[in-house]
Amino acid sequence: MDETQDAIIIGGGMVGAAVAAALGQVGMTVTLIEGGAPPAPIADGEPFDLRVSSLNLASQRLLESVGAWPFIPETRRCPFRHIEASDAAERRHIRFSAADLGLADFGHFVENRMIRRALWQRLAELPSVTTLCHASPTALIRGGQHALVELEDGRLQAARLVVGADGAGSRTRKLAGIATRDADYRQRALIVNVRTCRPQQDVSWQRFTPTGPQAMLPLPGPHASLVWYDTDATTREREALDDESLRQAVEAAFPARLGGIDAVLGRASFAIRRRHAERYTRRRLALVGDAAHVIHPLAGQGLNLGLQDAAELARQVTAAHAAGEDPGSRQALAAYARIRRPQTLAMMAAMETFHRLFTGPAPLRQAGSAGLGVGERLGIAKQGVMRRALGI
Ligand SMILES: Cc1cc2nc3c(=O)[nH]c(=O)nc-3n(C[C@H](O)[C@H](O)[C@H](O)COP(=O)(O)OP(=O)(O)OC[C@H]3O[C@@H](n4cnc5c(N)ncnc54)[C@H](O)[C@@H]3O)c2cc1C
Repeated sequence: MDETQDAIIIGGGMVGAAVAAALGQVGMTVTLIEGGAPPAPIADGEPFDLRVSSLNLASQRLLESVGAWPFIPETRRCPFRHIEASDAAERRHIRFSAADLGLADFGHFVENRMIRRALWQRLAELPSVTTLCHASPTALIRGGQHALVELEDGRLQAARLVVGADGAGSRTRKLAGIATRDADYRQRALIVNVRTCRPQQDVSWQRFTPTGPQAMLPLPGPHASLVWYDTDATTREREALDDESLRQAVEAAFPARLGGIDAVLGRASFAIRRRHAERYTRRRLALVGDAAHVIHPLAGQGLNLGLQDAAELARQVTAAHAAGEDPGSRQALAAYARIRRPQTLAMMAAMETFHRLFTGPAPLRQAGSAGLGVGERLGIAKQGVMRRALGI
């Protein structure tokens, strides 16, 4: 068995790697255990991947503070300066502009693999961080002084703190005996990467229809990521269309004012579910990111929530470490859960309300549509909502 480290992080996705970077840069000893391969380099000019996230300002600040942001080249991130949402008929809409809040932009759209790659490049610079790939835990023993993680090859690792960052199906969460509350929205999201007829736009556009939202998210150059929610069966039918038929289907369903679609470049679809861990911590263990919560992606907040978990956990744990205290102490973990759980619950409730208002029965949909019109006229309150969504 290796000697006791400060932390073992299970899952080297975007959230786990962010925790590792935040702890590693203050010199804490960390092992990051990743079940898959390390992220591959991304060549200039490579086509954009289908998995893209909107990073809000708080997430961007976290990536800056852990030294990963400079590894994301400008050519692979797209700032957005306006957010626009409307009802199905586009009669009522709400528009937010970064300039109204005195900001240059609201954040950036970046491929998930690029964010992860940037974080791992930063980890390679941190001498107190070790990464173990193609490794996975088989047992977790949490004791008074430290926790032990047994790996599939029989190796044992010991640390003051274990962080479960291994995604929605988290094995760490199961090994710790933490149950989840789950719901299936009976919706599927079709993601379509397209080349647009217009040059690059800076608007994150969304329309709520009774079968689910449609979104057009800008990517660098004349590119965009479309997200089209619908029932499982309809989404699978669309996904099976050839490129030209899918291009025509998109043009018929999305408003003409967004500009035409020149070509479909790729597509994939995802089931939409909600999942919430009944607790975020146990003795010497904390869950972060999708291991703790999976929310409806309609507002693009899942990763942002996960990165805020990473920031808060790092804040508590590094403060304990700096004070010469136990980084996996009950107090540090309790403070993390006390701050993060209500914030996630509030975001989950907001997503639930949006989902019900726009896909529920007609009177609810009318209320949702009216709400967009009222929201547009709310001025200061509208700015407050926006600041919250941006995490500032
Ligand atoms: C359609 C769609 C669109 C979305 N759009 C947005 C958006 O615009 N903005 C946003 O903020 N969020 C968005 N999200 C949510 C976002 O993608 C997730 O919240 C985010 O990817 C979660 O990151 P994570 O690091 O917690 O988990 P993951 O990305 O799932 O990473 C988990 C990591 O753990 C590893 N792992 C798994 N099991 C083990 C194991 N047993 N042992 C070791 N390692 C293991 C995996 O290989 C992986 O590297 C979207 C989600 C969907 C479905």
